Amino acid sequence: MIQIKPEMCPYCGEKRLEELQPTEVVIDDTLWTIHHYECQFCTEVFDKIITEGQVQFDLFSEELGSGSDEDDSEEKFSH
Ligand SMILES: [Zn+2]
Repeated sequence: MIQIKPEMCPYCGEKRLEELQPTEVVIDDTLWTIHHYECQFCTEVFDKIITEGQVQFDLFSEELGSGSDEDDSEEKFSH
């Protein structure tokens, strides 16, 4: 599991962030993990959404770039 934690609050720039319980949803067979962060300074809550494909793209960008993307869009257009 790769943790991609934002370094600072997008509202005030403080770095005191508390990670809340993430939400996981599946959309079109892709797992979306929604991470919630609460700024301990200004109490704003913001989300960071990590999709399964996004993580794979980072790790295996060469494999994904050559095939599965195209297959996926073709399938959607034919319906
Ligand atoms: Zn803040």
